[in-house]
Amino acid sequence: MEGKQEMLNRFVERCRQAGLKITPQRIAVYEILINSHNHPTVEEIYEEVKKRYPFVSLATVYRTVETLEQMGLAKKVCYWGSSARYDANTEEHHHLICVKCGAIRDLYMDQELSIPEELEGFKTEGYSVNVYGLCPDCRKESQKDS
Ligand SMILES: [Zn+2]
Ligand SMILES: [Zn+2]
Repeated sequence: MEGKQEMLNRFVERCRQAGLKITPQRIAVYEILINSHNHPTVEEIYEEVKKRYPFVSLATVYRTVETLEQMGLAKKVCYWGSSARYDANTEEHHHLICVKCGAIRDLYMDQELSIPEELEGFKTEGYSVNVYGLCPDCRKESQKDS
């Protein structure tokens, strides 16, 4: 993964090109997403931004995440419950998802799946695998019970 500072610089550069105002709140949204390893929801990002900028609105955070997505700097990973989870790591990678607590970890697989270039009439562009299971913490919890 690239350095965080480069990622932030690129975001500022893209905003400039798109004629978007570069506000500290916008920068904070992206920074929090970059530093988070658990693929946060917009609400979770909002809670973090609020610690630094108490007057930020949830709508601003939503719009910023949307902008990041449109710029290709963030990706929606999956839905957990009713909330979308986001990732600033836009490299091709996969995910391990805990079915109990909803933790999402990045997964890099050595093995490539052979996906045909055309599938059911689709021209394929990529794939990502979600592996579901119990995370180490939840496994420990369930061992305690038994
Ligand atoms: Zn878990
Ligand atoms: Zn990820």
